[in-house]
Amino acid sequence: MQSKKHSFIEALSNTAIGFVISYASTFLIFPLVGLQSSSSKNLLITMFFTVISILRGYFIRRYFNGKIVRLNTAKMPFKLHCFDCEIEMPVKRDEKGYFCSNCGLRH
Ligand SMILES: [Zn+2]
Repeated sequence: MQSKKHSFIEALSNTAIGFVISYASTFLIFPLVGLQSSSSKNLLITMFFTVISILRGYFIRRYFNGKIVRLNTAKMPFKLHCFDCEIEMPVKRDEKGYFCSNCGLRH
């Protein structure tokens, strides 16, 4: 699983590259759609969307990361070393605690 810090760094790197491209694009798109602007306004607009982009990238990453972790833990049964079977075995749980799914030994 990707750490929260790594998710943030990845989103930040992605957005830093996007920032340069977006800022340059404002000088092309604004005149094309008839918007009067200046380099300082373009910079402010780009900074605004950059912050939104960082947050969007971070939360989408965390959402899907959590989903992957939940899927993986659902697929893989919890295993413990069973001293009777002498190997790691999937365990089941009841009101008294965990027991080996193969031989029933209590853990
Ligand atoms: Zn066992």
